[in-house]
Amino acid sequence: MGKLSLTEINTVVKDIRDVDVLIGYCYPSTYRAGMTSLATHLFYSSLNRRKNISCERYFRYDTYSPIRSVETKRHLKDNHLIGFSLSFEEDILHVVQMLSEANIPHIAANRMNEDPIVIMGGPVVSANPCPYELFIDAFVIGEGDLVFHSIADCILNSESRQDALGKMAELQGVYVPSIKKQPIKRQIMQNLDELFHPTKQIIPDVPEGAKLEPVFGKALLVEVGRGCGHSCKFCLVGHICRPRRLRSFEKLKEIITKGINETPVRKVAFIAPTLGDLPEFEQLVEWCIERDLEISAPSLRADSISRKSLDLLMQGGQRTLTIAPETGSSRLRNILGKGLTDEAILKAVKLAADAKWYSIKLYFIIGLPYEDEKDILAITNLSKQIAEIFPGKITISANPFVPKANTRFERNAQSPIYIIREKIRTLEQGINNIPRVTVETLDPRHARIQASLSLGDKKMGEIIKIAASYGGLGGWRRAEKETGLPFFAIANNRERLKGPLPWKFIQ
Ligand code: SF4
Repeated sequence: MGKLSLTEINTVVKDIRDVDVLIGYCYPSTYRAGMTSLATHLFYSSLNRRKNISCERYFRYDTYSPIRSVETKRHLKDNHLIGFSLSFEEDILHVVQMLSEANIPHIAANRMNEDPIVIMGGPVVSANPCPYELFIDAFVIGEGDLVFHSIADCILNSESRQDALGKMAELQGVYVPSIKKQPIKRQIMQNLDELFHPTKQIIPDVPEGAKLEPVFGKALLVEVGRGCGHSCKFCLVGHICRPRRLRSFEKLKEIITKGINETPVRKVAFIAPTLGDLPEFEQLVEWCIERDLEISAPSLRADSISRKSLDLLMQGGQRTLTIAPETGSSRLRNILGKGLTDEAILKAVKLAADAKWYSIKLYFIIGLPYEDEKDILAITNLSKQIAEIFPGKITISANPFVPKANTRFERNAQSPIYIIREKIRTLEQGINNIPRVTVETLDPRHARIQASLSLGDKKMGEIIKIAASYGGLGGWRRAEKETGLPFFAIANNRERLKGPLPWKFIQ
């Protein structure tokens, strides 16, 4: 992949002679995806506030090199601590590739005293770290805001690598596989107002629409809340990020005022699983518009939408409404615990039509437990009804069900790939003739890999190691063949899911 030239605003460069701990924050995917993640800005700013720490960033794709930092080209191996954030299961291949390329032993047990300590966090590993244990020295289970500083202190106050890992194993929310101490309790921050929020965020100095521009454009990311008041049975966020917590209206205004002052942008992107849960959401948007700020509000529940909020968001520059009905029938939606009726969805669409929004995107899951043929037809029917009401562009995003550990569907196998393909075909044929409606689907082969990793155990390490050496979809196939382990069938194996689950030591 070609390397793109990159200049940024608000990067932090320190003279390493003045610091005690060198940290590499790694995002194992593209620069664009990594810079869209609030975690990147949060850890970077928070750690660099400390005089004795220098934190620099590494991305798998699109920067000068995956093993040279964006800031000073510091070699990945020269850090004391390397932290990976894993948002998508398949990115584990990139983690292993980055370690190997940097000449850091990719098997944790082979690392020597002079090698960096490799830690990993993110929702995927908080739900089930087992498949990645072969490569990682310590996992952050839950929210890393405070524990990250304690981990840095362990490095600071230790004589050796082993000593530091021993200290880390004592921290709540840290899992060190080589020092078994179970169960592991998820770390959750109760009062978000008391937590540091980055206001001086890094912005790439690139033209609008450029490949390196973050997904929400040049925007200040503002975290409104964590967790969700609902608990849909398939949803990782609805389970591992509980309970729902929101920042106060006053705090959010303070963050935005300071943020716009320190970050040269005129756009605010709100981050929260369900934004409409904030009681003052309309007031907040209004307050931003009064200050001439553009708005991006990616996650709204259909039943929290009002005409006023749509008018305000449109004024703030948003043009696409995103709704997640998850399934076409109210029956299945009730089973999922989504608590959203067809009427609520159609009402939201009508409001968007009246408010003259340009487009609507609807997220569905196919291959869900308890789903039958009628549920797939119901997606087509719902899409038809939506097209009758809404005159703009309509996108149906239908992705295969990926069972996730630590959700209430963790014992529900994924349907075999041929059944998922058949369902996608049925859906595409049904939608084909509806005007202005297009369908996007995730390749079921990727969904199958995600599911196998999500429900996997320690044995996955051998597969990942070989798959990483080949790369891509073909790498997984070759790894299955060479190890003789039934990787692709793991998520389809109903019998296995009836037995003890490997991730049950995570509380
Ligand atoms: S699917 Fe949406 S509403 Fe349901 S638990 Fe997840 S974030 Fe909450």
